Amino acid sequence: MQIKRIAIIGGGTAGWLAANHLGLELSAQFGYEITLIESPNVPIIGVGEGTVPHIRATLARFEISEAEFIDCCDVTFKQGIKFVNWLDSKKHGDENYYYHPFDPTYNDNENWAPFWLNSGMQKSYADFVGIQEKACNDFLSPKLISSLPYQGPLNYAYHLNAVKFAKLLAKNAQERFGVIHKFANIECATKGTEGEILSLLTSEGETLAFDFYIDCSGFHSILIEKELAVPLIDKSSQIITNAALAIQIPNENEPIPPFTIATAHKAGWIWDIALLNRRGVGFVYSDKHMSESEAISSFSSYLGVELESMNPRRVPMRIGYRKKLWEKNCVALGLAQGFVEPLEATSILVTDYAAEYLAKGFPKTADQIESFSRRFNTTFTYVWERVIDFVQLHYFLSDRRDSQFWLDNTEGAQLSDELKLRLEVWKNQVPERQDFFSKFEVFDVDNYLYILYGMKYPTRHPVRANNTDVFINQCVSHKNQQFNALKDKLPNHRTYLEKLKQHMSRLV
Ligand SMILES: Cc1cc2nc3c(=O)[nH]c(=O)nc-3n(C[C@H](O)[C@H](O)[C@H](O)COP(=O)(O)OP(=O)(O)OC[C@H]3O[C@@H](n4cnc5c(N)ncnc54)[C@H](O)[C@@H]3O)c2cc1C
Repeated sequence: MQIKRIAIIGGGTAGWLAANHLGLELSAQFGYEITLIESPNVPIIGVGEGTVPHIRATLARFEISEAEFIDCCDVTFKQGIKFVNWLDSKKHGDENYYYHPFDPTYNDNENWAPFWLNSGMQKSYADFVGIQEKACNDFLSPKLISSLPYQGPLNYAYHLNAVKFAKLLAKNAQERFGVIHKFANIECATKGTEGEILSLLTSEGETLAFDFYIDCSGFHSILIEKELAVPLIDKSSQIITNAALAIQIPNENEPIPPFTIATAHKAGWIWDIALLNRRGVGFVYSDKHMSESEAISSFSSYLGVELESMNPRRVPMRIGYRKKLWEKNCVALGLAQGFVEPLEATSILVTDYAAEYLAKGFPKTADQIESFSRRFNTTFTYVWERVIDFVQLHYFLSDRRDSQFWLDNTEGAQLSDELKLRLEVWKNQVPERQDFFSKFEVFDVDNYLYILYGMKYPTRHPVRANNTDVFINQCVSHKNQQFNALKDKLPNHRTYLEKLKQHMSRLV
């Protein structure tokens, strides 16, 4: 049987990313019909404002204009994450911080971590190997006014308005790739003798039949869980945060940090993301370690406002991923596939990867499903496991012991065998590219180096050569020169964005 009619259920970021990826790969081929169905009464989750640099390549592939995207999704630039208070304040000071920027850590193909370890570590690791920490501290844009779309002297991703982003992706999928958009409430599905989905039944009494189904219905997981009974592999023993409070507050005319701020507290952490006209702030915590009223009070002190009257949004979080991400003729993407709390903004990234992977190898006939689904399931199970490792690493490396939450995340933590092994190896030698075997290491050596050494991981110092000190001095002066050459050219972050907005309004 040929697979020609594809249904995507859900019109959030996941659904519309999938629609664009499939449209891009399949719309030029004769006979494919892609329909996205979303409920008129179930809103999209509407959180998810931080991205990672991979999204730039995706938007460029979809031929979305970067200027239009920045203008209509209230975008600001993200050059990384500033982690505040992830270490013990008694040993490392109040408001201790480190950056996880996006710039690569290797310089001229050389890993500078051994030199940093031998340098006395007066400078932070990020500041020693790159210039992005300085650019972040100065609130600079990663792009010049003259930079080409999706390019800039510094690596970057975006902060965005999630609702507006889904709308932009929707417009693109329909106009560029002919994706059909339909509003309907899916109530249930009919199934064939092999358990495959034959059709969807709507609450309006319609029967909608397709050859292949993509479940992007968010935490509702209406096909993968409710119809195909694929369970979630629960990962709450590794990532113990399970609730969030979210709020938006105006920030007009204030300076805009070109990074996400992630501030640790007694039972989790707070995200703080500035868009052009508002801040999205979220309090992530473990409800086993902090009651909601304590969370509201702690969140209020962070914001400096009385939060109760502002009615923060409560978002429960189920941490885990599907035992099978693809079952029969149905693939789950986005929150229906799985979720790990947003510390490293991994959700849109994994969705984007998975949707692109699916679209590029999309099965043409039903008998190709078996082999491709096995490959997909193995690949993305690996992706999820490594993403969970990476998020857990941030907590595990902390020397905070000021609450049961931090004790449970450190002394009482359950790590995967892979993460245990890596940390053992990295006690004796710095992480290297060859420690990361798979193309599907979503976070690789650069990311690990920033977190390990931002959190002061005690790797044994390498043997010093005669010319080590000379080389260290050269490294430091090279980075200073590089930054000085760039800093007067890079505009202030807010200035760049306001100029772009003015330019766009003149075009209307
Ligand atoms: C607290 C929190 C913070 C987050 N922060 C980040 C972040 O910084 N970065 C990041 O990458 N990700 C983040 N995420 C994840 C991000 O929000 C999601 O990856 C993204 O929004 C995609 O969601 P989705 O499309 O899977 O689901 P949703 O946005 O929930 O969309 C679900 C869709 O399914 C439809 N639907 C549901 N039931 C039915 C039905 N019966 N019939 C028809 N349609 C139906 C709905 O109408 C809707 O269109 C965060 C998530 C949470 C919870």
